[in-house]
Amino acid sequence: MRRVSVFGATGSVGESTLDLLSRRNDIAVAVLTGGRNIARLAEAAMQHQAEVAVTAYEECYAPLKDLLAGTGIEVAAGPGAVAEAGLRPADWVMSAIVGAAGLAPGFAALSQGTTVALANKESLVTAGPLLMAEARAHGATILPVDSEHSAVFQALAGENIAAVETVTLTASGGGLRDWPLEKLAQATPEDAGKHPNWDMGQRITIDSASMFNKAMEVIEAHEFFGLAPSQIAVLIHPQSVVHALVAFQDGAVMGHLGAPDMRHPIGYALNWPHRSALPVARLDLARIGRLEFADPDLVRYPALGLAQAVMRRGGASGAVFNAAKEIALDHFIARNIGFLDMAPLVEQTLDRFDAAVGLDRAPGSLADVLAVDAEARRIATQVAGGLRRTMS
Ligand code: NDP
Repeated sequence: MRRVSVFGATGSVGESTLDLLSRRNDIAVAVLTGGRNIARLAEAAMQHQAEVAVTAYEECYAPLKDLLAGTGIEVAAGPGAVAEAGLRPADWVMSAIVGAAGLAPGFAALSQGTTVALANKESLVTAGPLLMAEARAHGATILPVDSEHSAVFQALAGENIAAVETVTLTASGGGLRDWPLEKLAQATPEDAGKHPNWDMGQRITIDSASMFNKAMEVIEAHEFFGLAPSQIAVLIHPQSVVHALVAFQDGAVMGHLGAPDMRHPIGYALNWPHRSALPVARLDLARIGRLEFADPDLVRYPALGLAQAVMRRGGASGAVFNAAKEIALDHFIARNIGFLDMAPLVEQTLDRFDAAVGLDRAPGSLADVLAVDAEARRIATQVAGGLRRTMS
């Protein structure tokens, strides 16, 4: 039996992971973690006969304990308990907590030499070099779960990364792709929260419309595959069928195609290094008929330009970028700032952080990353206040 833990089990990626686990009989579930959705956490823990259920919130301990009374499932609560979840023995871990809270349990799992399927993109964007060093130091494996990175990983199987010229991540362009540029300033969270192809949560869907999600993925690819900023490109591909393209020095281009369903990259990471049947839709190219591609307009998607700047600058830029993007999104959802204010907010936060603290020093520990995150959020909130006054 393989021992598997799922961090962020009650979320979108977590649920897809549990769906795949429920179809297997060779897996024992060690730990499931969740946040506030303790009803779902308890249900999943019972269904999968987990050894431990962990909620991130202390105040949820007693109600979760009640829900699991008499089951023999251990209950734990609080951020410390979530971080410790990574220390519990497991062969394979899904790291799918959203945000900076996902860093600590992922690091802990790597410190145990565990194979970590990494969905939490914030880990690589904020602490890429630390995370990769932790994996190397403990002989742990990180498997990408973002569909584009899984696609690149699969295209690189058996290849030498030194023979790669460029990697292209595709992007649907999001829900506002066909809006005229001059109308974008009026886009509401509801407008930006509709995705043409992928069924995801509100925040990541809005990040797709602004391309902040793609910007995060570009930085992720830089950190994970060790590619230079100039080697990573983005291509608008409205059908979301080709997930990534890897171009080699001999002119060959390997593409990865598949239906847009997160159970493919999750299942690939679960089955790796083998391939096994997965319950995803099969591709019918004749029915799709046409695959389109276009270069992204950097005026429409300034987040992509910011990602290039972040990769070139390095140091603390990734952590500041991620924190500022989170604050920008909070304020857009709260209707405090407009859709087009998000990128200037992030850019101004990077500039102000640089002036006040300096961007060049890379965080040397997890605690450092969290300190940069907190300071960047403070600065970004101030910047948001300024933009809000401009709007009103
Ligand atoms: P969701 O918002 O759907 O789920 C997030 C999970 O994290 C939930 O289990 C939630 O618990 C838990 N959580 C929230 N806050 C905390 C906290 N402070 N401490 C511990 N746990 C917490 O997110 P997604 O599944 O969409 O995304 C997860 C990660 O994967 C993100 O980093 C995202 O960028 C990435 N990703 C997502 C993809 C997708 O298709 N959705 C694709 C590729 C990557 P609860 O709900 O119980 O509060």
